[in-house]
Amino acid sequence: MKRKEENYILPDQKQAARRSKTAADIQDDMFRLSDSAARLGQGKKYYIRTYGCQANVRDGETMAGMLELMGYIRTEVPEEGDVLIFNTCAVRQAAEERVLGEIGSLKPWKKEHPDRVIVLCGCMAQEEAIVRRVLDSYRQVDLIFGTHNIFRLPDLLYQVSRSHERVVEVLSEEGRVVENLPVRRSSTCKGYVNIMYGCNKFCTYCIVPYTRGKERSRRQEDIIDEVRQLKASGAKEVVLLGQNVNAYGKDLGLEDGFTGLLKATAETGIDRIRFYTSHPRDYSVTTIDAMKEYPNIMPSLHLPVQSGSDEVLRRMNRGYTSDSFKKLVDEMKARIPDITFTTDLIVGFPQETDEQFQETLDLVDYCRFDMAYSFVYSPREGTPAARMEDSIPLSVKKERLQILNERLAEHASRNNSAYLHRRLQVLCEGRSKKNENVYSGYSEHNKLVNFTGPEGLEGQIVEVEITACHSFSLDGKAV
Ligand code: SF4
Repeated sequence: MKRKEENYILPDQKQAARRSKTAADIQDDMFRLSDSAARLGQGKKYYIRTYGCQANVRDGETMAGMLELMGYIRTEVPEEGDVLIFNTCAVRQAAEERVLGEIGSLKPWKKEHPDRVIVLCGCMAQEEAIVRRVLDSYRQVDLIFGTHNIFRLPDLLYQVSRSHERVVEVLSEEGRVVENLPVRRSSTCKGYVNIMYGCNKFCTYCIVPYTRGKERSRRQEDIIDEVRQLKASGAKEVVLLGQNVNAYGKDLGLEDGFTGLLKATAETGIDRIRFYTSHPRDYSVTTIDAMKEYPNIMPSLHLPVQSGSDEVLRRMNRGYTSDSFKKLVDEMKARIPDITFTTDLIVGFPQETDEQFQETLDLVDYCRFDMAYSFVYSPREGTPAARMEDSIPLSVKKERLQILNERLAEHASRNNSAYLHRRLQVLCEGRSKKNENVYSGYSEHNKLVNFTGPEGLEGQIVEVEITACHSFSLDGKAV
């Protein structure tokens, strides 16, 4: 843990990379709201902006839960907030620059309102280089804390309000599991449930093992309790979250822990179960069998492949080959014929040749994904890939991304056209963000469906007839 003269606790990437073999501490009583912090939010508002993955969304829900316990009321207008929280993602550099740009634009506002508090947290706060940059050039930020000490938010805010000084507390530990945190869910029909934290995989391009600590699982009974509470409160869907869910329970000494957890979740009787993110390396056949056995485990899978080239996969440290990935997809399709697949793809990894890129296109043609998150490789300081030589011009990488996206859209469009005139069960999440007159939701196969229907369908599973198909969405009407 590094300390500076002002007594800041700063991130330390080398320390963050250490992994011990001992199981993580599970602490049931870590969160306690002190009397002084409990009154801090009376008559005040908070604004929270979350970037990145569902793990961040879930962290944002925990922070909202703590703030509301302190008396704060949520606002969607940043300028109205007494506390502004930027809950950040570190996966891509462009997203980081956007966050810094937004914080930068608040400088005049902060000058006018010196008592308002600007907070930077999430994965960006775990990066040494970012924290140093913010300390040097973004004086308007009052509080920086990382992913390991979210439960400290009330006390850290109290510290800022008392001292009127900047507070920085970023721990670079392996992490622990804190169980009794409050939560303010962002959806009533769908609930995110963390099953584990951190990652031990160290893919060479990825910053997550440094920002989120080592793999550590929650106890199965705590997870199932949370699922039951969600069901009792009317949720129809739970999304089990972890950076690598297939490794669930390894640290607790469980054999095939994820399959066991998946079955126990299914047996709660909740209508729908999804899980993110799977790693192709750890996939167990028993998990596929569980998906087949329980109709409430949805037949769609996000399986990040990243590249179709064995050489690139080796340099990424992904631990599988293009052939073994295809075999896994084939095996799943053989057991669950209508299963749909989405994936993640990186183009322009250091020294990726035209042939290696072509291998990615070939794999895309083979697997015919329903959707993919595709990106040009973004170097992350401190990761092994960021030190690899790379002479491929950015213009070539961007061109490859365009070719890849066109190919992905072709497959997605072809896959979606098969749904025309079919009736799908859609979990209605509310009105579409783009058009107030239509509802939007997801089918069992995780297809985005925009549909018309009578008033009051929010939060229900609705039968929808598909009337038009697009590459990445379907249109329909409630039956
Ligand atoms: S499995 Fe790889 S890509 Fe996924 S979070 Fe872990 S290190 Fe990152």
